[in-house]
Amino acid sequence: MTTDERAALVRALVAELVTTETLHLDYELIENYADRKSDPIDRWLVESHIAECATCGREVRNLETYAARGRRNQKWVFFAIAAVTAALLIALVPLIR
Ligand SMILES: [Zn+2]
Repeated sequence: MTTDERAALVRALVAELVTTETLHLDYELIENYADRKSDPIDRWLVESHIAECATCGREVRNLETYAARGRRNQKWVFFAIAAVTAALLIALVPLIR
């Protein structure tokens, strides 16, 4: 193998590594971003990456949709518990007196 061939092989390997691994965001990074838990640096990282990368952009939007649904569900559970507690209080207070 000549030096040129070796150099070409190294370039090809590096290019492949860059496109398959390094260029995409960590799942954890995307998840925290969607849950609005990332710090400003991570947020900047995600936003600048998804401006260029459709794959990660799609992932972020999916998780954001899912996270928003989770937040709605949490709110619903909170109101359900509050309503049951209120109903119990209304039913029980006359019995105590
Ligand atoms: Zn990406």
